[in-house]
Amino acid sequence: MNKQALQSIASLLIRRVFKWVILCVVCISSLQAWLNYRAIEENFELTVNDVAHAHLPLLSVAIWDIEAQTIQKQISLMLKNPSIAYVSIKASTGQQFTGGNINHLSGGQHMVFDIPAPADARMSIGKVEFVVDKTVLRKELLRSFVIVIIEVVVLSVFIFVAVVAILRRDLERPMRELADFVKNLQANQLSSKLELRRKPGNGYNEIDLVVDGFHTMQDSLQKHIANQDALVAERTSQLEAAMKSLKQLSITDSLTACYNRLLFNERMPAEIQRAVRYQRHLSLVFCDIDFFKKVNDEYGHAIGDHVLLAFAQSLAEELRIDVDWVVRYGGEEFILVLPETNLQAAWEVAERIRQQVAQHLFIRMQDGSMLRVTASFGVAELQAADTMESLVQRADEWLYFAKSHGRNQVQPIIDSTSQL
Ligand code: GH3
Ligand code: MG
Ligand code: MG
Repeated sequence: MNKQALQSIASLLIRRVFKWVILCVVCISSLQAWLNYRAIEENFELTVNDVAHAHLPLLSVAIWDIEAQTIQKQISLMLKNPSIAYVSIKASTGQQFTGGNINHLSGGQHMVFDIPAPADARMSIGKVEFVVDKTVLRKELLRSFVIVIIEVVVLSVFIFVAVVAILRRDLERPMRELADFVKNLQANQLSSKLELRRKPGNGYNEIDLVVDGFHTMQDSLQKHIANQDALVAERTSQLEAAMKSLKQLSITDSLTACYNRLLFNERMPAEIQRAVRYQRHLSLVFCDIDFFKKVNDEYGHAIGDHVLLAFAQSLAEELRIDVDWVVRYGGEEFILVLPETNLQAAWEVAERIRQQVAQHLFIRMQDGSMLRVTASFGVAELQAADTMESLVQRADEWLYFAKSHGRNQVQPIIDSTSQL
């Protein structure tokens, strides 16, 4: 991220405007001062000319009549004009009349006019010389220059203040709000729209374009995030479903849909614990299809699978839903787990299944013959000292006993008088 100190555009523009204002002030003032100088100088010469021509007729008569008093009076009248510092009148007869401040003789501007004869304007009877007081001209120039400077500076200050105020209001403030909004924008705050505090009536400008651009971006981002959320939710539920079916697959036998040995090993300890803690009965029935190898050998594996499936269904039909459960323990070996069931009741369940299988489980072969199936069962009830392994082993031993004693039977044989 750029860590440079912030320089607002408005401040930059204000500084630039200020420089240009100063430059304009200097240029306009100089031009105005020069024009004023020219005008004042022209005006100055015209004034002296006017004074001279106003007095020349009277002077002409006075010199012609040699009226010294009148001449001197004319001189003092001419000196009343502040631009004229010294007046000298020389008659062609040699007489000279002067007036004014003699100190200006050396430094001032000299202007000389012929004095015509009263009767013939083409004949000169003397000369009048004015020494002009340049300090008056300078003062006038300075005064007009100061006025120009003040006018231009005041005008510039007003324009500058107005430009600063407009830039601050219409550029700096909205840009700052825009920058603050962008800086603090969070992904979870996309619904709070960017609203600039602007007075209406500015028209539609670039800042409005940016604001509208932000609104569009916020909307599309919101939609995008919403789509993503929906997509994530959909994917999650798909994943959960997949996980569930995967879990189901991992604990279920694919052929018979019974639980598999993995599930038995996982669930059985808890089942035993519950029975021990609440002092409940828990029995196992170990089942094995008789001569199943022969079925495979004689009729093929497909028929063998068919028999396995039909046998598993017969088991399930005799069990209590959500209480008892069936596990395919090995190839054609199944275990029934019967909670809340003592040995007697377990034996009865097994016997019922045995009879059901022996009487009703048969498969009609293509040649019309019947393939009958029987199974042997070993039953064991959980004892205080039992582990999962010892319980399974006892049921397996009784199964082996049933096999070795003729098959198609449930062992140990229990009647109402015997207790094992
Ligand atoms: P017994 O009465 O002593 O139990 O004899 P049996 O032939 O049933 O016992 P054995 O253990 O010798 O044979 C079990 C056979 O089960 C062997 C195997 O080919 C078959 N088997 C195991 N799993 C499957 C299966 O998934 N499908 C099929 N079709 N056969 C299987
Ligand atoms: Mg077997
Ligand atoms: Mg068998």
